Parts: sequence; C-alpha cells; structure tokens
Amino acid sequence: MRFFLGTHQPHWLRLTTAPLFISDRRLREYKTLPTARGTWALDSGGFTELQQYGRWETSPREYADRVRRYRDEIGGLLWAAPQDWMCESVVIQGGAGFVGTGLSVTEHQKRTVENGLHLRAIAPDLPFIYVLQGNLTEDYLACAQMYREAGADLASEATVGIGSVCRRQGTLEAAEIITAVREAVPGIRLHGFGIKTSGLGAYGRQLTSSDSMAWSYDARRKRFALPGCETKHKNCANCPRFAFRWRERVLTSLARHSTRIHLSTSPGKGTQMSRKLDSRAQGRARLTLSAFRDEAARLERDTTIRREHRAGMSVRQIADLVALSPARVGQVIAEPEPDGGLLKCLRELRQRWGVDEDPATSAAADQIIAHLAADDLIDHGADSDVSAIVSAGVQDEESDSETLSLFDVA
Ligand SMILES: [Zn+2]
Repeated sequence: MRFFLGTHQPHWLRLTTAPLFISDRRLREYKTLPTARGTWALDSGGFTELQQYGRWETSPREYADRVRRYRDEIGGLLWAAPQDWMCESVVIQGGAGFVGTGLSVTEHQKRTVENGLHLRAIAPDLPFIYVLQGNLTEDYLACAQMYREAGADLASEATVGIGSVCRRQGTLEAAEIITAVREAVPGIRLHGFGIKTSGLGAYGRQLTSSDSMAWSYDARRKRFALPGCETKHKNCANCPRFAFRWRERVLTSLARHSTRIHLSTSPGKGTQMSRKLDSRAQGRARLTLSAFRDEAARLERDTTIRREHRAGMSVRQIADLVALSPARVGQVIAEPEPDGGLLKCLRELRQRWGVDEDPATSAAADQIIAHLAADDLIDHGADSDVSAIVSAGVQDEESDSETLSLFDVA
C-alpha cells in the first residue's frame, strides 16, 4: 500500500521523497509554489469547504486551473481529488461547526459523480480521480452503479477514492464497506481518505493507498512536543521530525500486519508433503525477516542516537526519544561509529542474512529498509540510494496476489 503523509506544510514537498497529501486550501495561498522532490496527491479540501459553506464556492473551472498550475509548477502530482460531497450526517444535517447542506445522501453522491465526470471533460490532461461517497454499505454500491451508468469503468482506473469511510467510529463497518465495494467492482484500486491507524489492521490490506494527518491532530490535541522540540514549538502539529517518526510507525505496523497474513503461497495446490515443505520454508523466511528487521531497526536507532547527540540533544532526552535507558544511550554514543553510514550497514546486513536469495524476502527487506530510511530523508535530503529503494517499493502496486508481496507498503 502506498501511504501518503498528510501535512499542512506544502514546503515539505521540497524536503522529502516520501509521498505527501496536501490540500488545495493550503496550496492556493502560495504565490510561489515549492518544487516537489518526490510524489504527492492533492486533497480538494471538500470537508472544510462543505463545513463552512454547505456547498462548493470554487467552480470546477477555477479548481481545474489551479490543479494545472500545481501539476506544472510543483511537479510530481500523482492525482487530484475531485470536488466531492462527503456524506457524514454532520455534513448533511449541520451542527458542531457545520452549516449543513440539507441535501440527501443520494444528491451528494450524484453531485460527486457529476463533478468527477465534469472535471475530466473540461480538463482531460489532469489526473482527476473518481470518488465513491456514501453512508451505508448499499450507498457505496449505488454510487459505483452511478459511475457505471455514466459510462465510467471504475475497475480500469489507477485510483478510485473512497470517502467518508475511514473517519467512522466502527472500524469493522469501514472494513465491511471496503470489502463490499471490492466484491462489486473486482480489481478496483481504492484510496482510503484520512485513515485511522486503528483501522489499518482491519482494512489496510484492502486499500491500494491511503493518507492520514492523524499525527498532526494528535500532537495539537495532546499538546505533544518531542524532546528537543520544546524550545522550537509549543507542539509538534507541524513538525517534520515528529511526522516522519509517526509515518515510520504506521509503515512498520502495516508491514507487521502484512507479514502475518501475507507470507503464504497459493494454498490448496500440491500434495500434502509439498504443503508441509512450503510452510517450513515460510517459517524460515519469517524468522530470517524478523531477525533482519530487528537488527536493521537497531542500526537505525543507533544512527538516530548519534545524530541527535551531534545535534545537541541531551542523553536523557535521547533516552526518552528512543525508549532506552540513559546508560544504554551513553554506550551507543561511546561506541565507534561504523563508516559508510546506515545504508552501507544495511547492505551488509542483507548479505549476512542472505535475504536476497529469495525474491520474496528480498522484496520484504527492501521495504524494511525503505521504512527505516524514510526518517533519514527528511534530515539529509534524498540520498539517491534511499529514494531508489523507496520508489522501488512504491511502484509495487499490484499487491493483490497472495504470493509475492510480503510488505505491500510504500
Ligand atoms: Zn517537533
């Protein structure tokens, strides 16, 4: 799964190759736009638009013109969300700071579908995606039917957004809707807007991509600041250091989840004996990978310790940051630094564990390294090795097959 890190800070586009998710509401304030180092996707900002006005104030033509400017001046734009109509009851009925549209779920869906088709018609050069909206499971299926009747083939789209799902309280309900849509439109590649990390286990695997800005809301609400950040800002709601640590945790949890269920070759084929051999080989692969991951994580952690130490963070603060005892942190600082940096160490580690002897474990090791190295991107810019690894992971989108993709995260 490709994970887009949501941020209010468009200038991060200049800093990182990690995929970002940025709202038109922020970008349109910029006279000079940043140039993207990596890829990103555009949020139309519909939730806030409907919250404030109960309708779209921006015409499709104006919106398309802005998207064209972003595509041309920023670069790296993978897709743009349409001006869709979310179907949460608060958006429709109002209250809690929402003016309310007073329309029906069906009307919201109709307008969403019409806008998607309209944007494609007036700007065929721009990568607008279609979005499914709804409230109950059957609404989403009805929305898919609306696209079908309008002549749009959702299964052939590179990305179809699924809205109003991930903000739900009930994770199981979200999982049920996503499963139903995938059954109704086989082959559909869904992007889940605004995922909750708690839902990743339940439906993460069913999505081709997703985005989240939960880290920012969390940091603001809990007034959280990382050790070393207190002097720079009140909380880490706009802090790349915090955001990229959080992103790493999300990716790791996705990876863990996909190792659990994914490490199997098509069951039901072959004899009893070959199945037994298969499962033995899989057990070995799993052990190799978990040992590799632990060692790689330790290497990355030691690199972080040394980096923060050089940046002037105290041993106690570093200990809090990496959840180790100050004594252990002191030891790491005292140890001689391996030459060649983290990437070289990781390369040696792959050899030592022989992860490249099998394409499946090799792909998994790529992903582990991509996750670990993501944090370094923000601190050191895009090391060409790292971005090569990260983008190799990103391009592996066909994760539906049960065989190869152990870590279908980017
Ligand atoms: Zn911070």
